[in-house]
Amino acid sequence: MNMQWNRDIQYVKGVGEVKARSFRRLGVDTLLALLRFYPRAYEDWSKIYAVADAPEGIPCCVSGVLAFPPETKRLPGNRILVRTALVDGAEVLGIVFFNNKYVASSLHEGEEYIFFGKVERDAYSGGRQMVSPRFQPKGVSEGYLHPIYRQTEKLNSAAIARCVRHALELSEGQLQETLPDYLLKKYRLLPLREALWGIHFPKNEEEMESARRRLAFEELLTLELGLLARRPDGKPGVALSHSAKDFTAKLPFTLTGAQKRAIGEISSDLASGSVMRRLLQGDVGSGKTVVAAAAVYSCVKSGYQAALMAPTEVLAGQHFRTFLRFFENSGIRTAILSGSMSKKSKDALKQALLAGEIDFVVGTHALIQQDVTFRNLALVITDEQHRFGVGQRTALAEKGTDPHMLVMSATPIPRTLGLIIYGDMDITVLDELPRGRQPVETYLVDASYRPRLYRFLEKHFQSGQQGYIICPLVEEGGAESALIPAEEYYEYLQKEVFPNRRIGLLHGKMKSAEKDRVMLRFQEGQIDCLVATTVVEVGVDVPNATVMLIENADRFGLSQLHQLRGRIGRGTKKSTCVLISNNQSHDTQERLQIICQSTDGFHIAEEDLRLRGPGDFFGERQHGLPALKIADLVNDTNMVTAAHQIAEKILQNDASLSLPENAPLQEAVKQMFGEGETLH
Ligand code: ADP
Ligand code: MG
Repeated sequence: MNMQWNRDIQYVKGVGEVKARSFRRLGVDTLLALLRFYPRAYEDWSKIYAVADAPEGIPCCVSGVLAFPPETKRLPGNRILVRTALVDGAEVLGIVFFNNKYVASSLHEGEEYIFFGKVERDAYSGGRQMVSPRFQPKGVSEGYLHPIYRQTEKLNSAAIARCVRHALELSEGQLQETLPDYLLKKYRLLPLREALWGIHFPKNEEEMESARRRLAFEELLTLELGLLARRPDGKPGVALSHSAKDFTAKLPFTLTGAQKRAIGEISSDLASGSVMRRLLQGDVGSGKTVVAAAAVYSCVKSGYQAALMAPTEVLAGQHFRTFLRFFENSGIRTAILSGSMSKKSKDALKQALLAGEIDFVVGTHALIQQDVTFRNLALVITDEQHRFGVGQRTALAEKGTDPHMLVMSATPIPRTLGLIIYGDMDITVLDELPRGRQPVETYLVDASYRPRLYRFLEKHFQSGQQGYIICPLVEEGGAESALIPAEEYYEYLQKEVFPNRRIGLLHGKMKSAEKDRVMLRFQEGQIDCLVATTVVEVGVDVPNATVMLIENADRFGLSQLHQLRGRIGRGTKKSTCVLISNNQSHDTQERLQIICQSTDGFHIAEEDLRLRGPGDFFGERQHGLPALKIADLVNDTNMVTAAHQIAEKILQNDASLSLPENAPLQEAVKQMFGEGETLH
């Protein structure tokens, strides 16, 4: 990019210190970022209706002459009503504004205006009217779609549009094209500058669509280039040929067919002499951890070190304890590194890792800190991959020399899509649950059932089983909030409801040593019931816990509820999950019923996708990919596939994107994936 475009946003006419701050809050700090701040919606001012023809119920523009000067009326409660009307021959359209003192002075009898809004029927008179429309004198701003931007309190959409227009004018002859010429020609894509005009100020729907097509393609190509560049593809790696057979033979359970297959695939990857990059995908409770353990076993017994990174301290602690049990008497020296350890013990551990005195380390993000070094790291594993970014996964791999990589995820995504967004990996699916599992029974009730539910819990405690009570928040959201704060609820339960039971509390704001202590006690059966926030959502495994109550269940997404419920039903005993919600709206009830009726993570994910739309579902959090601004991984699948193939071709000819024609693409990849990372 031309230097000019990295200029501070204040370079735009009319943007001073205050506006610049608002822009920064929206993530816009430079001229270029402003041009790339795409509208989130449009108002169609390209098509103007006569009063008689304006459709009802959909936003549109209507033109006409103001019939009489606006009349201002005071309503009870200090509200103001402004009324006027638009005429066009014999047709009349009422115009109404509430609480807008200023409109009266900007509307003049006998002049022509364009009003944008929804035509509806007045409940009393039955006449057609528009409530609180936007308007302009005729001839000022019709003839194109008006962009609607994400705004802040101090910076509204119209002000942003003015700044964008100015920036686009400045861009005349200045903007460098990002896509190579042959791609523009072959796929008939708009040049960048045209596309930017077209996305911000399109003359009509078609112009907006072709601008969007060009920009979405560019974004997907950048994404695929970044992902594929990380693929090792036949890159030589250490051959780890020690078999995991003596490990699997000693397990206290029989492996499922799917687990055996997964261990087989991973073993042959590890022994192949090429770098492994594999995604292990399996629904909650499918038994991914033991597959990882088999890989670690092969690695260490072949004479190399292994590392596993988990997204939370709670999960890292649990894995550490699980692996200690798995590797008892195996001679594998296992350690844990977490952010909360004292500096002294961290230093000692780092020393030992460098000296090769530790074979296998489990940890949180603390593992990717700069001063953590290994003697011969040959296998890196990330658990609950969707909680990490692509960058973090790569950062862990950089601790070794092309180590093998295994990433584990319970997030079910439609398979074709998975192949593409995990385009840099081979995929193994654990599509079978361990034998003897019974599906968790799930019910939806309102809060009046609580006393019965407490008795139900008590029965389970009596027979030695454990339970969870999940609350959405740690502290109360606000005065009118109906949410139950975990801390208060915990005290109430311990004192009033279960005075003779051991209740525990686990939430994200606790110190991690404290969290560990609580988890450990729960795991050892010294706590009967854990009152927890969503910190238990990922990975926690206590098979003796068989009941879960989820308070304010409507506050959670479907996939999140599925993850939470996955904490029970992990043993052979029957488990029960109860969703508590007082929200009687049809949509909420329908949504929560999906969880009651299905335990299939893929089905639930698809429903989640259908109900929430792709934006949320495929948000950054779900898969660790960079956030996309304009492309849509669900609806643009054809484009995703095309981008995937084109990216492959480009990299075949120019693996490091160093040809001059690819320089802008390399720049775009860096921007999307973060500056610090290198392309392999
Ligand atoms: P997830 O895939 O959700 O990470 P885990 O690896 O935590 O699942 O396994 C869930 C539980 O099932 C653990 O308690 C684990 O010991 C147990 N488990 C795993 N594989 C088997 C098996 N083949 N037979 C019986 N229990 C198993
Ligand atoms: Mg797990």
